[in-house]
Amino acid sequence: MHFVNAKGILSGNGGHNGMNIYRGCTHGCIYCDSRSNCYRFTHAFEDIEVKQNAPELLEAALKSKRKTCMIGTGSMSDPYMHCEEELGLTRKCLEVISKYGFGVAIQTKSDRILRDIDLLNEINKKAKCVVQITLTTYDDDLCKILEPNVCNTKRRIEVLEKMREQGIPTVVWLSPILPFINDTEDNINKILDECFRVGVKGIICFGMGLTLRDGDREYFYAALDKHFPGLKDKYIQRYGNAYEIPSPNYNKLMSLFMKRCKENSVMCTPDECFAYMNELPDKQMNLFDMLGE
Ligand code: SF4
Repeated sequence: MHFVNAKGILSGNGGHNGMNIYRGCTHGCIYCDSRSNCYRFTHAFEDIEVKQNAPELLEAALKSKRKTCMIGTGSMSDPYMHCEEELGLTRKCLEVISKYGFGVAIQTKSDRILRDIDLLNEINKKAKCVVQITLTTYDDDLCKILEPNVCNTKRRIEVLEKMREQGIPTVVWLSPILPFINDTEDNINKILDECFRVGVKGIICFGMGLTLRDGDREYFYAALDKHFPGLKDKYIQRYGNAYEIPSPNYNKLMSLFMKRCKENSVMCTPDECFAYMNELPDKQMNLFDMLGE
């Protein structure tokens, strides 16, 4: 890993305040879009760039805001990679978020997030905290192939349970669904069963498939050659160089997903999930409302 002093920390894309404390990732997911060439990495993807001044930048940015809002993190790089254990930058940023009364929507695949459950709880009580966890396969042997350097699905479900025990709302990313690998009814049903059991608020699924582009595609194909001999040729024959790689079971799996989420009153469109994660309730107002009742 290497250290830099970043110029800014909040991206502000589309009105959302997102931050990435690290660039690159060591979790090794075989399908990772963040390693695509379009992101113009000038260093190896696993050579983590650490924005060492992230907490100070965040503090300055939050101080200058007129209104509190939700801060998002984890979309491009997991905030709980191995290096977070020693660096603690994600924790420091959460402390800043809590200090200034902002909310957070944080996304990870790692159980290291449990280290910070005290702070997440504090933020949730003062403002709002949504923990987002990605689940792709119920089969933990397959999980070890798809996402080799991070805890398995069983453990991630335990993380979701622990969040629920604290009253911290959770959202699951059901993504990506890889054709001929995890695109089965059985897999989707088993993941959904667990999501409903642990009371997730919403499930984000952009469709039953994955996206591939230059950089990401080569890495994915090398992993297919290693773990699923012959499958790369099937992909090339069926999808060529396409960006969108839909599962042959797309429609069947999508209707199953929508139907079961609706039956269980779980949000299932990306729009409603993102609207929920961007909305910061006025807790003080709610208290007055309650007193008035
Ligand atoms: S955790 Fe996310 S950023 Fe890290 S390798 Fe996996 S998909 Fe990529």
